[in-house]
Amino acid sequence: MSQTKILLEESEIPTHWYNVVADMPNPPAPPLGPDGQPIGPDALAAIFPNAIVEQEVSAERWIEIPEEVREIYRLWRPSPLFRAHRLEAKLGTPARIYYKYEGVSPAGSHKPNTAVAQAWYNKQEGVKRLTTETGAGQWGSSLAMVGEMFGIAVRVYMVRVSYEQKPFRRSMMQTWGAEVFPSPTDKTEAGRNILAQHPDSPGSLGIAISEAVEEAASRKDTNYSLGSVLNHVLLHQTVIGLESKKQFEKVDDYPDMIFAPCGGGSNFGGVAFPYLADKAGGKDIELVAVEPASCPTLTRGHYAYDFGDAVGLTPMMKMYTLGHDFVPPGIHAGGLRYHGDSALVSQLYNEGLVSAVSVNQLATFEAGVQFAQTEGIIPAPESNHAIRACIDEALRCKETGETKTLFFNLSGHGHFDMASYDKFFSGELEDFEYPAEAIDEALHHLPKVG
Ligand SMILES: *Cc1c(COP(=O)(O)O)cnc(C)c1O
Repeated sequence: MSQTKILLEESEIPTHWYNVVADMPNPPAPPLGPDGQPIGPDALAAIFPNAIVEQEVSAERWIEIPEEVREIYRLWRPSPLFRAHRLEAKLGTPARIYYKYEGVSPAGSHKPNTAVAQAWYNKQEGVKRLTTETGAGQWGSSLAMVGEMFGIAVRVYMVRVSYEQKPFRRSMMQTWGAEVFPSPTDKTEAGRNILAQHPDSPGSLGIAISEAVEEAASRKDTNYSLGSVLNHVLLHQTVIGLESKKQFEKVDDYPDMIFAPCGGGSNFGGVAFPYLADKAGGKDIELVAVEPASCPTLTRGHYAYDFGDAVGLTPMMKMYTLGHDFVPPGIHAGGLRYHGDSALVSQLYNEGLVSAVSVNQLATFEAGVQFAQTEGIIPAPESNHAIRACIDEALRCKETGETKTLFFNLSGHGHFDMASYDKFFSGELEDFEYPAEAIDEALHHLPKVG
């Protein structure tokens, strides 16, 4: 039997991040300010360090990873690539299935890959405090962990429904020294306005972003940090895909299809973009973003300029969106409940270079349980989306006899999501298709541009 774990040496951690902008057929659509004109770097400099602003607009193909960031990466990177022999056997598929396991990071997901970098650049520019939002708590815990490493105070606005569903994620953030508040809060104008209209608001990522951005913009010592969506975040996550390419070389294989769960697009971009360069060079490879049927941003959203937050404090980005005032149903893959998507992923999807599918909640948990029972690891509910789509393809290969190489990103473990698994086992989880009327309605709330 061929190898199960494909490992790299610490010395093989990438020295540079890969910037997909260099290989895109068209330049990215620019973010727009309130006047409908492309924003300059100044608009971002109020809440981000200059080095991050430069990365946000860079078209350089390779961007060097600072040595101190690589040193911290060594705590858990390179992450393993696994060949899922036992899952393949269970499915009886001729396809070869591989997965990259990002749950080996201390916070349990891919998110620290960018948290380390963002905290480092903020530290270089003398920033003392960072604010951020978190949905499921994966991002908040990642930033909390690195904040302490760099002596930066971290305040986290956590979507209320997740704050209640995932109390131990909050405990983790507090263990790492962060302050955590259930959003909407009464600490910001954005939060107070929402509470005045909807006292029982379950919160949303969009609302929590408004709160964190408002606070960062109003304090000189404080910057804002975002765990997904923006170009620099996807850039930092390319360590995943770059490592995986070296790992595939070691076993002399190469993926035909790559699957990743897609919320704001960071782990999808991180794993898939380094392969897009090969695709641009003529390689036949399919890159599939997998999203929940209850929050079908790419598969059913509008491709239009919209705000990144609920209130409209951020620049407008051209992206697939369900409308910035979208409050998603309380499904358990908290990290996938975002109204928009990365502008880079959106543009590449619009141009047909990446594809997307949506899957139902119950089917994702079924896939996650099947995975846990064969491969051992209990996946995050977000990751279950990629597993579902990958298993579906493996079963298709069983019908056709194709020996495709399938690869998915196991973006995190589910150790803090066992309450969701309990609900699945007791039959309390439901499928929820986002209604077409709500999607049409969102069109009327999009900002008018041009
Ligand atoms: C946050 C998160 C996601 C979704 O976010 P992306 O930015 O789309 O990657 C997926 N999986 C896990 C485990 C997460 O924590």
